[in-house]
Amino acid sequence: MVVGPQQQPLGTGPDEPRRVAVIGAGAAGLCAARHLAAAGVPCTVFEQTGNVGGTWVYNERVGMDQFGLPVHSSMYRNLRINIPKHVMCYPDFPFKKGGRSYATHQEIRDYLKNYAQHFDLHQYVQHYTHVKRVTPQGSRWSVLVEDLKTGRVSEEVFDAVLVCNGHYSVPYTPTVPNMSLYGGVSLHSHDYREPEPFAGADVVVLGAKASGLDIALEVAKVANNVFLSHNGDLVPSRLPDNVQQVKGIKEATEDGFVLLDGTTVRASAVIFATGYEFSFPFLAPECGVRVVHNRVVPLYKHMLHRERPTMALIGIPYCVVPFVIFHYQIRYFLSLFLGRVALPSKEQMEREEDADMQKHLLQFPARHTHKMGDLQWPYLHDLAAAGDFEDDMWPVVQEVYDAVEEDRKNLLTVYRSIEYNVTGRETYERVLPPSA
Ligand code: FAD
Repeated sequence: MVVGPQQQPLGTGPDEPRRVAVIGAGAAGLCAARHLAAAGVPCTVFEQTGNVGGTWVYNERVGMDQFGLPVHSSMYRNLRINIPKHVMCYPDFPFKKGGRSYATHQEIRDYLKNYAQHFDLHQYVQHYTHVKRVTPQGSRWSVLVEDLKTGRVSEEVFDAVLVCNGHYSVPYTPTVPNMSLYGGVSLHSHDYREPEPFAGADVVVLGAKASGLDIALEVAKVANNVFLSHNGDLVPSRLPDNVQQVKGIKEATEDGFVLLDGTTVRASAVIFATGYEFSFPFLAPECGVRVVHNRVVPLYKHMLHRERPTMALIGIPYCVVPFVIFHYQIRYFLSLFLGRVALPSKEQMEREEDADMQKHLLQFPARHTHKMGDLQWPYLHDLAAAGDFEDDMWPVVQEVYDAVEEDRKNLLTVYRSIEYNVTGRETYERVLPPSA
């Protein structure tokens, strides 16, 4: 389908009010409601919990919630953000001045609540509604929803669907040979909440990305030893004396693990900080969305369903500044939906996708085709150009992001005590703590 300003916009006739279903009221879903509302597009945000903010709503509980659904949030009690808040925020809703750059999860939750209040978004959110099934119906979408409080199931038809269900909630746990022999405690970082249960223990933390590093350092404050198990480059920062970097796990034994270099570690607990899976359990097979080797297909620009472009999956890219990505992806969708810009032909989209894939493969392994890093900046500019909307991210965001990457590498244990004060569109101050 090709659409353009003179052509039919995505969805049905231009005179009918076209309604959009948004699945999830986390940072992505709220951003969707904010921009749809501003454009006068009616929307309903289905949210299975009683809150807005998604993963930023800390939940002590692990396992299942009161409705028998898996607990969604992966926050741990002491989590502080890993990107300074003044660059992490939506470009059109700055953080209030003051406070520490590396805010707590509670502050981010409050920020999202304020965003919802400021843009009067609560009116669009239906709480305790769990989307069970989305099925194509002609050029539209049937959305089957359960009201979790009454158990009533209803079906509504929408002209478009924005999938904002979050991508850090369904744990990925690798298969470890002989794991059934292991007699210790085993959990995924999704279910990690606090360090105290690991006091005095020898603990393996498998994975040395953001969560693995954070959890290893936090657990080390109370544990006897922490074995940070991974196959990447050694973390260059000086780590606490009781944290040792070791190779990845080959197999489990009764009381520990054999590592890939043949050495063994004894440990009474293992925490799998091994990431998350893309999961869309509510999309019927007829929707045609699949996850192939960690790649969501068939997507255009990492978001738009290429075959049925009235569906977009928001927030798929990772190693990014997520709220900024949402702010751009939603506006790109809206430009298409309102017929302000044209979608290229299918052939052209496929060609662009192939070229994009090649670009990613130059930097990342095939499993990481949605990983962005440096590629997020041209990606954002491209969305703004293709969607013909204001490219409003301040250049300082990229500058701070790069500076923070270096801090995290070299000053891992203390980087959150560095303050980043944004002083202009392109300028910032980096203030070291007095003790440094
Ligand atoms: P979520 O926040 O996960 O929201 C999804 C919402 O969809 C939830 O409210 C859920 O209940 C709802 N939902 C899901 N399925 C259904 C359904 N079937 N029906 C109805 N509702 C449904 N980002 C940063 O920018 N900085 C950080 O420092 C940072 N740290 C992080 C630390 C951790 C431990 C984690 C897990 C993530 C972190 N992130 C960080 C990334 C974070 O996920 C994003 O910032 C962002 O909050 C994701 O928003 P989202 O709306 O896509 O997903």
